Amino acid sequence: MQLALISLLFLYSILLQGLTTVSGRNEVPKYNINTPLRVLLDKDLTEIKIKSVLNTLFIKEDGANRWTRFPGIVTIKLSRSAQRILVNQTPFESSAIYLRGGFQHTDPVQYENNFYRGALKITKTKKGLLMTNIIPVEEYLIGMIAGEMSPFWEMEALKAQVVAARTYAVYMITHPKHPLYDLEKGTSDQVYPGAQSEAETIKRAVKTTQGQLLTLNQNPVKPYYHSRCGGNTESANFVWKESKASNASSVPCPFCKKFPYNWKKRLKTHEFLGLLKLPFESLKPFKVALVNRSPSGRVKEIAVETDSQKHLINSDELRQLLGYAHVKSTRFDIKIEDDQVTFEGVGSGHGVGMCQWGAQFLAKKGKTYQEILSHYYPNYHVRQPVVSLNP
Ligand SMILES: [Zn+2]
Repeated sequence: MQLALISLLFLYSILLQGLTTVSGRNEVPKYNINTPLRVLLDKDLTEIKIKSVLNTLFIKEDGANRWTRFPGIVTIKLSRSAQRILVNQTPFESSAIYLRGGFQHTDPVQYENNFYRGALKITKTKKGLLMTNIIPVEEYLIGMIAGEMSPFWEMEALKAQVVAARTYAVYMITHPKHPLYDLEKGTSDQVYPGAQSEAETIKRAVKTTQGQLLTLNQNPVKPYYHSRCGGNTESANFVWKESKASNASSVPCPFCKKFPYNWKKRLKTHEFLGLLKLPFESLKPFKVALVNRSPSGRVKEIAVETDSQKHLINSDELRQLLGYAHVKSTRFDIKIEDDQVTFEGVGSGHGVGMCQWGAQFLAKKGKTYQEILSHYYPNYHVRQPVVSLNP
């Protein structure tokens, strides 16, 4: 009995070793290249069609060891009572199943127009089917980096991007967004197009920085990055209320100014107030004031006010409500003329952490990825994980 308990504890500790990082204060995170990441691909689905590139799929139930062979195209849905997962009418008893595209875990499967290596995990939830891609972090990076930076950019800029993206993923493994997944495949985390966006340059950038992470006091951080800062990067605490995980500070970036990015967005006043969900009639006529700017020149807060009412809106919330694609950064001015509100700004993205266009400029000037990272993340260190990198 005691022996069984010890064996169980041993097994549990092995499992933990693969999945968690920090086992105590001031310890370098434990992480290896097989550490699996759970990326949310889609949720609340009634039906999923999966194809295999190699014309055959392998499926197993959660907890089982045996994979069963299926045809190259399957349709997955819930049974009428929503008790079971059905794959081409074959019922599965467990609440989740895994699929892969061949004998190897690297054989890709196709979902809609994207291809994914690793395994797909489909879980039955109260709202329908939820699908994640379970993939080792290093392989995830190969299919992800092109979603955030062009594979044709300088190698040292790509390596800096890889180290930042790897650290973000490892941070999310230890601080998952949801019990069923660590992070999402879209802009709310890191854009992950999948295996069709793999490139030789990206593979090289991942391999030559294998396992390297950014740490602060030897713990993994949440390293933000963005497209173009427009002159200075931004402190995380000016953008988000919950910014402790980042601890990013503002640094000068005259580099991206060489590729100026000016933008303008006009909205009708009723459209502007509607998107902000403010009562239009009671606020007319109104004025908008930039209440607060950060030391780096970004708008922190705006006030929308009439004689009797005043609404303060945080600029990140403003971007979210008006659309990140419309208000491209928080470095802007606002004008109200007739029935139009005009935003005129510079830069693209939230401005926190590494400026990608600045990184590209520095790489062109011969800076290494370590120099690029230490410029944009002055508080962080680039570290190798303590565990072996041998698979
Ligand atoms: Zn910049």
